[in-house]
Amino acid sequence: MAFIGCDAPYESASAVLFGAPFDSTVTFRPGARFGPSAMRAESCGIETYSPYQSMDLEGFPVHDAGDLELPFGNASAALDRIEAFATRVLDDRKMPCMIGGEHLVTLGALRAAAARYSGLRLVHFDAHADLRDDYMGEKLSHATVIRRAWEILGDGRIYQFGIRSGSRGEMEWSRGRVERELFGATSLGAALRSLRGAPLYITVDLDALDPSELPGTGTPEAGGMSFRDLLGALFSLRGLDIKAFDVCELSPHYDHTGRSTALACKLLREMLIAFTRQAA
Ligand code: MN
Ligand code: MN
Repeated sequence: MAFIGCDAPYESASAVLFGAPFDSTVTFRPGARFGPSAMRAESCGIETYSPYQSMDLEGFPVHDAGDLELPFGNASAALDRIEAFATRVLDDRKMPCMIGGEHLVTLGALRAAAARYSGLRLVHFDAHADLRDDYMGEKLSHATVIRRAWEILGDGRIYQFGIRSGSRGEMEWSRGRVERELFGATSLGAALRSLRGAPLYITVDLDALDPSELPGTGTPEAGGMSFRDLLGALFSLRGLDIKAFDVCELSPHYDHTGRSTALACKLLREMLIAFTRQAA
């Protein structure tokens, strides 16, 4: 079963949706591996039409390639598989659109995009800075993923929004290296000036949202963005040179009401309409 409205054949698709159901490095509560399948199953509960953008997802040729088979317990091999798949999608001149999984999966798709597009910049929505150099000795973790991204992209290429958790060490290390707005994304408009013309990767860790709206995540953090704030921030990126994006860290089993998965489905619909190419 494909995500609603994403039934274009691969050949004619302008964007390829795929799941990366991996959560082996999760530090607190695992379960993000169930994110992609939950979103597909629940996506029939929303319309393909967006009243926000006055457009229908059915007018956008998106192919849902299903979930990658990833080796649990081997983060490095899982990232290699994600990178290989995203590279193939980019080689075929299509946009990779990934559903996590824990946030580490971003590193695989980002590597593929950075190899193809020099000067790539990362726009990152999250409650957590994810800038640790290691987590209990491990370099590959959802708590280190943006530090690994910085090693690829370099200073001044990462823009963080919604951050409200991190160690003192992460915050001090990142000064002058990573652009950041704490708690929200009201400065995104100003950041857009330096983002215009640059190739972009957008990553949304769903715990950027307030746990009252999205409790179904592994590391909930109070004081988050509202759905409408996040949607507004994402819409302000429309028209920029977006090469790939992902939505991560939905952990559906922590929310028996289902509202987290429903929110994630709606957000993904809006991102697909906002960022992918319409049928010619
Ligand atoms: Mn994260
Ligand atoms: Mn997070």
